[in-house]
Amino acid sequence: MSGVEYKDIEKGYEEQKPKQGTLRDERESRVMALRRFNLRIDRGEFMVLVGPSGCGKSTALRLLAGLETEDSGEILIEGRSVIAHPPQQRDVAMVFQNYALYPHMTVEQNLAFPLKMRRLRRREIHRRVRKTAEMLDLADLLKRRPGQLSGGQRQRVAMGRALVREPKVFLMDEPLSNLDAKLRIQIRGEIAELQRRTGITTLYVTHDQAEAMTLGDRVAVLNAGVLQQVDRPDGLYDRPENLFVAGFLGSPGMNIFPVTPVNTGQALDIQLGESILTLPDDSLAKHTGLTSFLNQPIFLGLRPDALAPNPKDDYAGTLPVRVVSLEALGHENLIYFELLKDPATRFVMRTTSKIRPQPGSDIWILPDLHQARFFSVDGQAITP
Ligand code: ADP
Repeated sequence: MSGVEYKDIEKGYEEQKPKQGTLRDERESRVMALRRFNLRIDRGEFMVLVGPSGCGKSTALRLLAGLETEDSGEILIEGRSVIAHPPQQRDVAMVFQNYALYPHMTVEQNLAFPLKMRRLRRREIHRRVRKTAEMLDLADLLKRRPGQLSGGQRQRVAMGRALVREPKVFLMDEPLSNLDAKLRIQIRGEIAELQRRTGITTLYVTHDQAEAMTLGDRVAVLNAGVLQQVDRPDGLYDRPENLFVAGFLGSPGMNIFPVTPVNTGQALDIQLGESILTLPDDSLAKHTGLTSFLNQPIFLGLRPDALAPNPKDDYAGTLPVRVVSLEALGHENLIYFELLKDPATRFVMRTTSKIRPQPGSDIWILPDLHQARFFSVDGQAITP
């Protein structure tokens, strides 16, 4: 059974400030925040919605919470349409980035507050507050006020205040963005653990692809109001369905090269600048789609990990490049190149920290075409 289902949701906003000197056209003045948005979250699943700023993530969350109204479409929670229900009847709990706790109340009172509002009995309130405090390791802090807590503890109280309601759906909008990097990683782990233990269907919004990939059972990638791909993190990383997903996920993202598939008589080869790259025999079956693109421009995608300095004596299938710069990250190096004959084609390789070619030097790079993905010029993956 699905925990949450968005069906064909469309949502636009009136443009608030039309550009000076431009005529206002009714059709153009509407900013579409979500178009034909369809997403199904399984019961108990941790779904992360990720995308650049302004792509419509918060809008999707706010629609589910009932804080915005869709132009058209349907939203179901555990099989029931909720679009006619006000926020308080939707059984969802939301944690925002500004974890507005009441400063004059103790942790205990902050946790109890949403239950008092719902007029639960005192014993039931006490039971739930205790249970939540124990789950979040807040039991010793119940008498403190928010001002006497660390940032991480305050964040836990904010989560507790949402959890204490025992909602059907847990919504989180960039809940970690106010924390420093170290704490962010710690609380990220705590959120994942908490979600597993409670099994509450969760929709988590972030613009941070690393956060998305480490937290989500599945990740939904959104760009400019259009859902791009939904998959498990490894599926998105290995098999991006379009150039946006390929570039957005991974740090750095996938390298994209302009190439042309050519038929050299015996095999299907890939022309990249002046180099000819031969697809390995055991990966040909995966790339049969390329035959429809013979002698046409397409794109080759290779992750920074799919490149290595050429270990062989011969140069067949390698790329002559110039080293532009090197970023030493301690446990690994990121090395930036340009193609020797075409400096506009730039890309990056990830290696162990032992490999450190001099910037300005010329070397040969061997791409591992087992990891190749191909995209048509309209950005869609050719490789399934
Ligand atoms: P995200 O959460 O991914 O940053 P949002 O859902 O907040 O994106 O916004 C999506 C788009 O809708 C943006 O172009 C934003 O400017 C616009 N938008 C959001 N809220 C409003 C609003 N209340 N009025 C007008 N435009 C809005």
